[in-house]
Amino acid sequence: MLQQTQVKTVIPYFKKFTKKYKTLKSFSKSSEKKTLKLWEGLGYYRRARNLLATSKILVLEHNSKLPCTFKEIKSLPGVGDYTANALLSLVHNKPGIALDGNVKRVFSRIINKKESKINFDQFIEENKKKFFNTKRNSDFVEALMEFGALICKPKDPKCGICNLNKNCKYFNSSKKIKTTKKKMIKSKNYDVFCYINKKKQIALTKENKLGFLNQFSLPEIREAKKNIRTKDWKLLKKYKKSISNKKLNINLYYKFSNKIPPSFFWHSMDKNKVLIPTFTKKIFRQVSNLF
Ligand code: SF4
Repeated sequence: MLQQTQVKTVIPYFKKFTKKYKTLKSFSKSSEKKTLKLWEGLGYYRRARNLLATSKILVLEHNSKLPCTFKEIKSLPGVGDYTANALLSLVHNKPGIALDGNVKRVFSRIINKKESKINFDQFIEENKKKFFNTKRNSDFVEALMEFGALICKPKDPKCGICNLNKNCKYFNSSKKIKTTKKKMIKSKNYDVFCYINKKKQIALTKENKLGFLNQFSLPEIREAKKNIRTKDWKLLKKYKKSISNKKLNINLYYKFSNKIPPSFFWHSMDKNKVLIPTFTKKIFRQVSNLF
């Protein structure tokens, strides 16, 4: 849940989840539909699918335990190098550094070398005797991440109170490296077309071509292009929306109609039985203002 999502957003979902599923085994028997319903609003729904798939593998193949080698952990659905290292150290207290943006920045400052110029795998390998000269790998990894977030911050690092300042090349150098800035995500324009009828129903389809919202029920949505005809449609609202790691500028159009394209179905906007992502709920709220 914490991949790309802040702790405060995750907490209510985590509580709801662990209340419903007390053990890995009980969760592994859940269906994708039920899992996604619990996840509703948290975004990045692929994580929920991967989590469910992983729970089944762990129960069936690993006696409900997390395996303890990097290779086995990394082979689980949705687990990359970062998560595998985090799990290895945080769960099993084994050597492994979860290299997130904070940790990379700390290392890069300590040696005063640009992140792009550092081969981090090699750097960790060369320094492993220093890093892992402890029985508390789990605390070490956690501390590194917290240190980057709280002390060696992206802007205005707290060098004056930093315990590492005597050995930090960034602090002691007159030629300090520039900290790598987060890449700005460019926003894209999308047109959303809502067929609605007098019964307060909206036409939805699961056949949308947007990878980040596939398998969800949505009105028609297309990347906005100048040559797409919007003539028969009335513009309801323009607004901005962030979804997963994307920034969207939405042009929301509507049309009262009793006819809808073949792959669409009518959905009552007052009912919430099927899985409706937050993105679609916001559309419902806007369109409901017409009634
Ligand atoms: S002295 Fe400053 S730059 Fe160096 S590790 Fe500490 S906070 Fe980061």
